[in-house]
Amino acid sequence: MASWGHDKETNKMSKNSLIPRLLWVRKDSTMKDLHFEIFKHMRFVFSEWADWSHPDTSRTPTKDNDLTKLPPFPYRRNPEDPQMKKEEFDALSDEEAFSICCKAIIESGSSAGEQSSYTFDLSRGAYQLEFKNTAGMYSQCKLCGSDRCKSCLVPFGDNSTVKDQLTKLSLTANDTLFEQMSF
Ligand SMILES: [Zn+2]
Repeated sequence: MASWGHDKETNKMSKNSLIPRLLWVRKDSTMKDLHFEIFKHMRFVFSEWADWSHPDTSRTPTKDNDLTKLPPFPYRRNPEDPQMKKEEFDALSDEEAFSICCKAIIESGSSAGEQSSYTFDLSRGAYQLEFKNTAGMYSQCKLCGSDRCKSCLVPFGDNSTVKDQLTKLSLTANDTLFEQMSF
């Protein structure tokens, strides 16, 4: 998970560092379950986003904590609804919040397809899961077959499991984070 901050020159949000967060998942989970579990794990981030970016927010920026430049929280039940408040978002069940924040991913039945890892469209989904090649060099991707793929979107759906993806990636161990090739 990255730590975000403001670039002083451009005043844009930028990633300051990358801190690996480990999350244990079941191999027999479907890819849909995997997305849902990860969404539940980081749902509080979206709640904070809804709160800070709301026009009536009561949050006051401090020197170390200023999220006032976040874009408006785009996810809502109906397109014509006003921006959701933190209280409304927190009152949603996990299933409801997931279906609202990841509507386009669910409707397309895939997190891949028309969206690549370099064209992240916030309106399509609240987050993007990728299988990342951390070796820093190109090699043929075992998922998409491209020899210039540095990251591949994690599929979404009921048809395959975490184990299926690990098999495709020829991963037999789950401690590869600091290996030369890791995902
Ligand atoms: Zn790929």
